[in-house]
Amino acid sequence: MQLLEGKKAAIFGVANERSIAWAIAEAFHSEGAELAFTYAGEVLEKRVRPLAESVGSKIILPCDVTKDEEVEKVFADLRETWGGLDILIHAIAFANKEDLANPYVQTSRAGFHLAMDVSAYSLIALAQRAAPLMEGRGGAMVTLTYMGSERVVPNYNVMGVAKAALEASVRYLAHDLGPKGIRVNAISAGPIRTLAAAGISDFKAMLHHVAERAPLKRNIDAEEVGKTALYLCSDWGSAVTGEVLHVDAGYNIMGM
Ligand code: NAD
Repeated sequence: MQLLEGKKAAIFGVANERSIAWAIAEAFHSEGAELAFTYAGEVLEKRVRPLAESVGSKIILPCDVTKDEEVEKVFADLRETWGGLDILIHAIAFANKEDLANPYVQTSRAGFHLAMDVSAYSLIALAQRAAPLMEGRGGAMVTLTYMGSERVVPNYNVMGVAKAALEASVRYLAHDLGPKGIRVNAISAGPIRTLAAAGISDFKAMLHHVAERAPLKRNIDAEEVGKTALYLCSDWGSAVTGEVLHVDAGYNIMGM
């Protein structure tokens, strides 16, 4: 029997074939899950639709997480088509480019709100609508975070603060939803070349730094994050909730 046979998973955050959310989708597909995808805007639809169709997805919907009506529509469609939901993947983040390059002290109010809204609040917006669809099914939610929430990573700036809020939200959501049998976890991934990563100044230096200093002496790839999401969302992770699991070649344990 496949690990996710008969399970229905909604994947938020595929932009292209390099997206971490896509690697998760591939891992889920290979273990028998049925998948729904969302995309943020028409430009990305051209990329996401063929990928989604390649894994047999029949639910492919627009969803800008800053728009409540689009979020509502996705969950209304999932209820109508599937009647329930087992897994939610949240792999969404955004900050203005200048806020990922200038000193953190210069962060504007608008830039702070935007990063927080898209990268942290959106998990709550999705979780509060997904939870009723998961009741009685033992659902699992996973979001993506980065170590810039715990330590200073130059240029990560406001995104580090948004990720700290996201990780705290994982714990509060795990507490709220635990009595319903719903688990909520985060994967703290090491740096991977993706569209979102391209927005961070001097990203190449981050990759180099990790490969030199991480215990495993290398970077990680999206497939490794996919396999970890599979563990967290399948029965293998049945007692794990409220956790932030580092998938970073061990980089985070280093002091010097
Ligand atoms: P990506 O660019 O492929 O994915 C980011 C996604 O966020 C895109 O699909 C984009 O459409 C979506 N998004 C942005 N604004 C949105 C909005 N308003 N509404 C809906 N969707 C929106 O890059 P990725 O690296 O795969 O990022 C996925 C997640 O992984 C992010 O949360 C990111 O912070 C996290 N992460 C990435 C790395 C890395 O090094 N790439 C490391 C750790 C954590």
